[in-house]
Amino acid sequence: MSSDHQNKRKSEIGEGSSRGGGTTGGLLNIPSDSQQPPPAAPPQLSRYESQKRRDWNTFGQYLKNQRPPVALSHCNYSHVLDFLRYLDQFGKTKVHLQGCVFYGHPDPAGPCTCPLRQAWGSLDALIGRLRAAYEENGGLPEMNPFASGAIRVYLREIRDSQAKARGIPYKKKKKKRSTPILKANEEASRS
Ligand SMILES: [Zn+2]
Repeated sequence: MSSDHQNKRKSEIGEGSSRGGGTTGGLLNIPSDSQQPPPAAPPQLSRYESQKRRDWNTFGQYLKNQRPPVALSHCNYSHVLDFLRYLDQFGKTKVHLQGCVFYGHPDPAGPCTCPLRQAWGSLDALIGRLRAAYEENGGLPEMNPFASGAIRVYLREIRDSQAKARGIPYKKKKKKRSTPILKANEEASRS
């Protein structure tokens, strides 16, 4: 009874307030315990869920296309590693080879013939989605090839080599650095 009363008081927004609603947050401030999950899953999937589903289908298709086709139950980490290498041909991230003049430059001044690869961050996120999808589709956690230590090692190597080749350290991003190296000259000439 008393809590009911409190809720009621809380939901009453001050009348005649000239404050435009910014601070009281009356309408959008839904108490967390009143958020009931909808009885049926909505047909619209979140971006993550639909991406996960798409990735899972792509991986399933990849296994089917192997000769001979690989059953999901026989899939192990080496298939996953092959899959990651296979995806590189669709990559859009320039990863400079060690002989390239732009090796280690985050902002190359011109074109080069180095290959395009899948960026480490994309692969890392992809593995996370597939690892979840594997178990959601009946795979046993202890058999999960996406959780294999070999995958983790591979991703770490990719991260380190791309960080060197692209001159981009993959650490916690600090606040935006406002001076890109190559454009810094223009900025500096002002002072
Ligand atoms: Zn290059």
